[in-house]
Amino acid sequence: MATVTLRDIVKIYGDFVAIKGVDLDIEDGTFVVFVGPSGCGKSTILRMIAGLETISHGELRIGDKLVNDVPSRDRGISMVFQSYALYPHMSVKDNLGFGLKIAGVDKAEIARRQDEAARMLGLDPYLERRPSQLSGGQRQRVAIGRAMVREPEVFLFDEPLSNLDAKLRNQTRVEIKRLQRQLGATVIFVTHDQVEAMTLADKIVVLKDGNVAQIGSPIEVFERPRNMFVAGFIGAPSMNKVEGTVQGATVRAAGLDIPIDASQFDLPADGSPIVVGIRPEDIVPEGHGLRPEFGVDFEAPVTFAEMLGNESLLFLDVAGSEIVSRMQRPELIGPGERRRFRIDGSRVHLFDKTTENSVR
Ligand code: ATP
Repeated sequence: MATVTLRDIVKIYGDFVAIKGVDLDIEDGTFVVFVGPSGCGKSTILRMIAGLETISHGELRIGDKLVNDVPSRDRGISMVFQSYALYPHMSVKDNLGFGLKIAGVDKAEIARRQDEAARMLGLDPYLERRPSQLSGGQRQRVAIGRAMVREPEVFLFDEPLSNLDAKLRNQTRVEIKRLQRQLGATVIFVTHDQVEAMTLADKIVVLKDGNVAQIGSPIEVFERPRNMFVAGFIGAPSMNKVEGTVQGATVRAAGLDIPIDASQFDLPADGSPIVVGIRPEDIVPEGHGLRPEFGVDFEAPVTFAEMLGNESLLFLDVAGSEIVSRMQRPELIGPGERRRFRIDGSRVHLFDKTTENSVR
């Protein structure tokens, strides 16, 4: 397996700068996920690594080798696409082996790799079927198998789960992660789904408008988002953001004085405007909260409630601000009912109103 290094990578389409100088160090054997909203440049970076797109500026290395001008087939990568891209007229077995046959690998070796991939992916019962005789999930496993048999140094996945239904998506996600661990593979995986990013990644790269907004472990980007964009993008439902002011070790927002752990922040002067970020799960039933000395209890009407089975989302009107709370306990609450809650002040995030960067 291999490291992948990007140095000041730029992609220009005509007069549009799609990727604006990205630096990235992907270590051997890690699972890296590119995540970000539509159009932020995830696929473009992946396609540059794959050699399917030229690099306008910067250096791309796989292992120690500069590969900017190395053809795709010589980069030691395998790519799995959203669309599977299987050969419809070939059996599963032939789909697995075809690339190797073209590359002149001898028959015994092809058979060994076909067998191994089929075993690892549970494809043995389907080897003689054509792609049209498989379910979407099975087809995607064949596509993954075809990438595996090439024994690449780096696997690239471009939204491979998008065409699958929710249940299959979850299953296949787990399979991909398990496979990566077994193979010790370096994987770069593109998705716009932050749940996929959180569950799969050793390292998440959050992209925005062709720039890296943050790189970190899932827990880092969730617990310590560098700016409002990352805070809003990672976590579902999205973090609540309310404008407020700083008053000593308290922030005043949505008509509430929320005692916070001031030692966690490099707070601006009293009276400074600030954006307070509160995750829906940090609005808890009254009396709860991780550290009782921080936080505030309040009463608010529930304007709308969504019951999700194992939890519920409550939309609250807190002094005119709409705030979403995520309750572990599913509860049927009618619109207009008032309840008592607590904002866990030990877990609030603060952002500079102008720069939108986290106040730390
Ligand atoms: P999505 O999640 O929608 O697939 P993405 O993050 O993968 O989005 P890219 O496909 O990498 O985004 O595109 C990044 C930007 O580059 C977009 O603004 C897109 O319109 C632009 N772009 C991509 N390919 C081309 C091209 N061939 N010519 C011009 N602009 C392009």
